[in-house]
Amino acid sequence: MKQLKLVWELEKYNGIIDECKVDLSKLENSNRLKNMNKRMVELDSNINHVRERILENNKSTSKFERLLKEYDYTKMKLEEDLYSGEISDIKQLEQLSMDKEKTFELIDEVESKILKLIDDNEVLEENYGAIRNDYEKLKGDIEITEKQFNELVQKLRAEIHIAEQEKDKVLPKIDGKILKRYDTTRTKRGKGIVTVNDDICGGCNVRIPTYLMVDIKKQTEIIYCDSCGRLLYYMEN
Ligand SMILES: [Zn+2]
Repeated sequence: MKQLKLVWELEKYNGIIDECKVDLSKLENSNRLKNMNKRMVELDSNINHVRERILENNKSTSKFERLLKEYDYTKMKLEEDLYSGEISDIKQLEQLSMDKEKTFELIDEVESKILKLIDDNEVLEENYGAIRNDYEKLKGDIEITEKQFNELVQKLRAEIHIAEQEKDKVLPKIDGKILKRYDTTRTKRGKGIVTVNDDICGGCNVRIPTYLMVDIKKQTEIIYCDSCGRLLYYMEN
């Protein structure tokens, strides 16, 4: 019977449309890209943070280097006064000597600070490079994932479009009463028509009585499963 074959075709297209829509919604609700983009924002903020610290350290280093020059100058002046022979007052010489010692201490202190800043920046630069690498890698991964994502969405939409076009061709050919019952069963049970395999309803697994199987195999009548109400369709093999 042609009607049976048409309803079977309709079920096929409805099935394709449903499956594609489920896949589409899974894709659109997937957290994969969202998480990747979130990580990207985090890495970007880390990069900025580390860069700011490097710049701050550089500023501090310059400041201490200027200070070091000042101390070096002070030290040179003190040494000139001490060893020029122009000052003979013991107390004054002692004071100059103490000032010189003090300046040496200050120079040591500033030099240590500069060395510490240079060490810190070496670590920060390494860090910066590592985060930058992660960032570039993730950026590439996001581009690939977005491309795959878009391709999949396009493919699914195209499949839905084709199935809908085919469905529209089949629909007007199906008898109104059969279609109505098919639609109701499909809404309720997911499928409006099922195959019968080894005398078993493909929808609810209930055995079909032998006398009905004879008619189902003939495919001349519209026969519904007594148990689940689905239209029964027999396919050889
Ligand atoms: Zn059934």
